[in-house]
Amino acid sequence: MKRIQLIKRRTIHTISTINEMRNYHKKYLNNQTIGFIPTMGALHEGHLSLIERGLKETDNVIVSIFVNPTQFSIGEDLDKYPRTIENDLKLLSKFNIKGVFIPSTKEIYSPNPLCHVEPSEFSKIYEGEKRPNFFSGVATIVCKLFNIVQPTHAYFGQKDISQFILLRRMVDDLNIPVLVKASPTLRESDGLAMSSRNVYLTPTERNVASILYKSLQTCVDYCENSTSNTNLSTNYLRSLTKSVLETEPLVSEIQYISIASPYDMKELDSVNLNDGAIISAAIKVGSVRLIDNLLIGNAKNIIYN
Ligand code: AMP
Repeated sequence: MKRIQLIKRRTIHTISTINEMRNYHKKYLNNQTIGFIPTMGALHEGHLSLIERGLKETDNVIVSIFVNPTQFSIGEDLDKYPRTIENDLKLLSKFNIKGVFIPSTKEIYSPNPLCHVEPSEFSKIYEGEKRPNFFSGVATIVCKLFNIVQPTHAYFGQKDISQFILLRRMVDDLNIPVLVKASPTLRESDGLAMSSRNVYLTPTERNVASILYKSLQTCVDYCENSTSNTNLSTNYLRSLTKSVLETEPLVSEIQYISIASPYDMKELDSVNLNDGAIISAAIKVGSVRLIDNLLIGNAKNIIYN
């Protein structure tokens, strides 16, 4: 796997209040493009690839690190989510970025907010059913961060494909002047998608966790080698993917296998390669929840347009 080229360390200007962020804008950023990469920290090469892309395509890159409490449901991992701020800053100091926004929860959320962004249709997709607060929390925090940072471009990983599709729709629906771009999923050498949560895996679980990627790839290979471009049954594709996952005894739960439209994540009855589709899944290996997805047919052009 290609390792990211890092440059010499720099001192990074750290910003922690909204006022400071807005003043920064007024002072430095007239008529320049700003690439924004929102993260929850515990940075890995997947995050760094988004920063590299922003540096290539915009004049100034700003990263945020904020573990957003409103996107976690009760019983999820908010308290134990990995927080590695020292190491994150060390990694960021090797890039020529303009600033890193690290607000406190109090800075971001007033005690009794009246308004938030509610993408109600997304509570019905599989990932939304499994994580009831997730999409509302994500849309709200990203909308707030866009208003604070005021970027011209924002970069998100294909790794969280439904989040990307939602945010691209959000800027469209709400006329937010930000170009939302997707970047490819960075993977470990065995195919496991990089994720801050992979540290939860025991060594034994880590050894088998790439079964998720392999099962999705089996489905994509089947579609792309099929003699017909149309009417591939999603029931069959789901059962094919499931059969690969079931070969691994450490897969303790298959939460869903979704084959959905690249426009709105609505489930499809059949796949037409010219229209494209997204296969995504959530499983548990032991007690660790993993998600991943791959693009089928023309979905690549729709996601990366
Ligand atoms: P997170 O810190 O997990 O909220 O992720 C911040 C951003 O990094 C999101 O846009 C993610 O989709 C993206 N991201 C996370 N993992 C990867 C990966 N393996 N490859 C590319 N982007 C990623």
